[in-house]
Amino acid sequence: MSYSKKIEYEIIPKESFSVIRSCSGCGKKVHYQNTNKFRVNANGNKLDVWLIYQCEKCKHTLNLTIYERQKAVSIPKEEYMQFLNNDEQLAEEYGRNLQFFERNKAEIEFGAYCFVKRHETEGSSENQQVRIAIRNPYGLKLRPEKQIAEALGLSRSSVKRQIEQENIVIETASPQLLSFAVEKSQIF
Ligand SMILES: [Zn+2]
Repeated sequence: MSYSKKIEYEIIPKESFSVIRSCSGCGKKVHYQNTNKFRVNANGNKLDVWLIYQCEKCKHTLNLTIYERQKAVSIPKEEYMQFLNNDEQLAEEYGRNLQFFERNKAEIEFGAYCFVKRHETEGSSENQQVRIAIRNPYGLKLRPEKQIAEALGLSRSSVKRQIEQENIVIETASPQLLSFAVEKSQIF
């Protein structure tokens, strides 16, 4: 085994993303927050469904499209009931769904998030390298150095220095996965 330990983390946003867009009530760009409420509009056998966001200052609303002129029969009954009942969990899922915001051409900002440890595998005790993978399924825009600093509990300047000194070697840096190797002596 070519590692002493393998650790996998996942970055999970704790709250819905906010949307940054101009507000006609405020006359400037503002943050809109998720109200966790849906709006359903039936038109013949077609349905429109929106998730409602609200300007945090003047309560002006912004409807983000979930379904547009969708045949009612093609929406699962269970999901349809969740829309009607303003299911909070479903609203928060949409509130953290990047594709949903991209479809609505919405500029977003994320708030609090946490690192959750998913797996830890022991390798060879003779090996000095710890391999760490950080999965970012929600695609939060966080620089690699910042992710490493937060996962290891180090300062960003110390992470930068250790990358320069090759004590930390980044292997993959894609929007949804960061993996790197770090000398055991540097963190434990
Ligand atoms: Zn406003």
